[in-house]
Amino acid sequence: MQFIDLRSDTMTQPTMEMRTAMATAPVGDDVYGEDPTVNRLEAEMAARLGKEAGLFVASGTMGNLGSILAHAGRGDEMILGDLAHTFLYEAGGAAALGGIHPHPIHNAPDGSLPLDEIKAAIREDDVHFPPTRLICLENTHNRCGGYPLSPEYCDAVGELAHSRGIAVHLDGARLFNAAVALGVDPHDLTRSVDSVMVCLSKGLGAPVGSVVCGTREFIAQARRMRKIVGGGMRQAGIIAAAGLYALEHHIDRLADDHENAARLAAGISAIEGLELGPDRAPGQEVKTNLVYFRITRPDIDAATLTTRLHARGVLGHPIGPGANQMRLATHLNVTTADIDAAITALRSAVSET
Ligand SMILES: *Cc1c(COP(=O)(O)O)cnc(C)c1O
Repeated sequence: MQFIDLRSDTMTQPTMEMRTAMATAPVGDDVYGEDPTVNRLEAEMAARLGKEAGLFVASGTMGNLGSILAHAGRGDEMILGDLAHTFLYEAGGAAALGGIHPHPIHNAPDGSLPLDEIKAAIREDDVHFPPTRLICLENTHNRCGGYPLSPEYCDAVGELAHSRGIAVHLDGARLFNAAVALGVDPHDLTRSVDSVMVCLSKGLGAPVGSVVCGTREFIAQARRMRKIVGGGMRQAGIIAAAGLYALEHHIDRLADDHENAARLAAGISAIEGLELGPDRAPGQEVKTNLVYFRITRPDIDAATLTTRLHARGVLGHPIGPGANQMRLATHLNVTTADIDAAITALRSAVSET
């Protein structure tokens, strides 16, 4: 069976054109700084995000970890959302490898960290407290319905942090989705942060990789951290070429994914027994490529619905908390016809007795 795979935008397959770009990329040893394709990707991403330098890493998790380790040390504290990917899904790497103390505060339903709560969380200089070194934002916010944070909000967090001598790191796994959804230049979303990680392997459709950007000095430190975690790669231009191809060809088309997600959301909202929106914001409108919904019928949980969808050729992703929430993601390999088929499958799966 040919599945319609809505589990994640990581499921994208490289296109033939992308594979050709990979096969023909000039390469060298990137640990020696000699891979021209990696160098080009790092420079290109840094230019797009208005930063001095970039660093190609194997994954978003490695990019966030290397950034956090470059900003903070043992016994330092970082403030981040209680629904942040870094807090929930990165195996506690900053604590495990860096001894960095996470200080989670409540994510608002739109994915932001309320400014007054950030202020209250910043530590005074007192021997009892770990020093606050870093604030982490996430844009778009995965667990908060794929919502984009506005440039004005990011600026406000930057201003607050910098006035207290604290750095800001942005988990921009889906930064380009945010920029496309808001109709702003990606630079507007990064101008107030000290570092940013962007995934090439999500909606941009590359098979592997992320890029971290920041000042030259920061990137030199992040490069050392990448080496520590074993992330120094050799002829990595083979995979960096896919990222370059994606930057050139797959950004504007993210709008199609957002349209498909809105279409899927409209379909879901018309199905009795399903309710749109993530747990913290039921009814929340879909703005990018992630569609969260909950099953309101007590006799079906997300695992059951997932099994029934699978039997109908549609793959979805149950996601906590509770056993009744699911997430569907649109991407490069999902057509509008697939969305209509998925809606039909959902309707039939929910009403199956
Ligand atoms: C996927 C994701 C990451 C991590 O990316 P990997 O490449 O899977 O390690 C980080 N942050 C967010 C918000 C993500 O969705």
